[in-house]
Amino acid sequence: MTYIQQTISDLKHTSPAQTEFYQAVEEVLNSLGPLLESNDIYQKQAIIQRIVEPERQIMFRIPWVDDNGDIQVNKGYRIEFNSALGPYKGGLRFHPSVNAGIIKFLGFEQIFKNALTGLSIGGGKGGANFNPKGRSDAEIMRFCQSFMNELYRHIGPTTDVPAGDIGVGAREIGYMFGQYKRLTGRYEGILTGKSLLWGGSLARKEATGYGTVYFAEYMLDELGDDLKGKRCLVSGAGNVAIYAMEKLYQLGATPISCSDSSGTLYHHTGIDLKLIKRLKEGRRSDLVEYLTSYPEAIHTQVADYPENGHAIWRYAADAAFPCATQNELTLDDAQALLTNGCKLVSEGANMPSTNQAVEAFLEAGISYGPSKAANAGGVATSQLEMAQNASMQKWTFIHVDQQLKQIMKNIFISASDTAKEFGQDGNLVLGANIAGFRRVADAMIEQGVV
Ligand code: NDP
Repeated sequence: MTYIQQTISDLKHTSPAQTEFYQAVEEVLNSLGPLLESNDIYQKQAIIQRIVEPERQIMFRIPWVDDNGDIQVNKGYRIEFNSALGPYKGGLRFHPSVNAGIIKFLGFEQIFKNALTGLSIGGGKGGANFNPKGRSDAEIMRFCQSFMNELYRHIGPTTDVPAGDIGVGAREIGYMFGQYKRLTGRYEGILTGKSLLWGGSLARKEATGYGTVYFAEYMLDELGDDLKGKRCLVSGAGNVAIYAMEKLYQLGATPISCSDSSGTLYHHTGIDLKLIKRLKEGRRSDLVEYLTSYPEAIHTQVADYPENGHAIWRYAADAAFPCATQNELTLDDAQALLTNGCKLVSEGANMPSTNQAVEAFLEAGISYGPSKAANAGGVATSQLEMAQNASMQKWTFIHVDQQLKQIMKNIFISASDTAKEFGQDGNLVLGANIAGFRRVADAMIEQGVV
């Protein structure tokens, strides 16, 4: 049995039924062979066994009362995965699909992503199996308050600083911050993604989407190319997708698709971003309403997706930006993209491509930016928000955006140089995994067996 098979087999016993978590672990471990072979310190120090086990896992009950006066109960999580490089940092996800395996995969990815930014942040993730869809503002507030009634005892500006993720935006961050302040009497930077009125950072909202597109631009620059004139498939219609589309337009490219949980939208002349922002404000409307303004656009319901695939990846385009959710791009989708001439994939969502799809991209030799590198701009800018909070400063949009750009460039260089160091030029999966792992593992070794 290889050490990868042994690790996954052990995890299946200690952490049963956590499919997405095994997938994320396998993806990272698959890249580490050349590093582990060149230096046995990591095996001697049992780094693999230590790094796949979270430092702490918190699970809790979230009781709340809905608008009808009925009591609802959800399950909450905060996985404090690794603090070798700094306070735990990573978002909170509110979505009905949330379970321990999903939060653990996200937390595991977060460790290496945060390491790649070069900043002092550890890895964590949290959330709840709460569905915000169709809930009133008052229900969202009561839920967020109940969630914080437990979470507040585990977080702090130098211990654990959560942010947003799917289903958690500025509104939810506001309600949770208010409850933290009420419970503790302290006004401090315990969450990022805050409103600009009271502690938020300019450009944080845009950072993940913009960063993913900057990363694509750096991959193309390496080949003497750029995004100008490129037709781009984008999935999702939330925070990451919207600002990825905005930056694509700014750089002269054309986003021709987006999607939500109801289905896929394709508009061959380019997505009307203003309309998408209006439809999605407050998570109110489904994308199908876009057709009222643009009857020539095509909307495909989820139920009508092709077998084994997703409609969005079946359109011809130069580049793809998956920005919705995990495993939204399968091997069949990857093959369709490649057949239709796609030359670049930059991932805004976390682990949107299955491991088989990733293999197909690497084999085809296209520019492929894995999520832990390509979408690290969000967490990096969260750290810039923490720095502003701690120093009581407020930086301009341009200042934050320039730092974001520089961080994305550094991540690209770090992944690319590490791939070259191990004789795999252009393999940014291997480069990002080894570069992120090495920084965390070396810090763990220096800090002793804790
Ligand atoms: P949002 O909640 O703002 O948007 C998510 C979008 O994806 C929505 O359009 C949603 O549809 C769609 N979606 C979610 N789940 C599914 C599903 N199962 N099937 C189809 N569509 C789905 O979240 P974000 O934009 O913040 O996050 C998107 C991705 O980016 C996630 O993978 C997240 O982990 C990742 N990410 C986010 C960061 C951030 O800063 N926000 C940072 C780094 C990564 P609908 O509108 O119908 O709900």
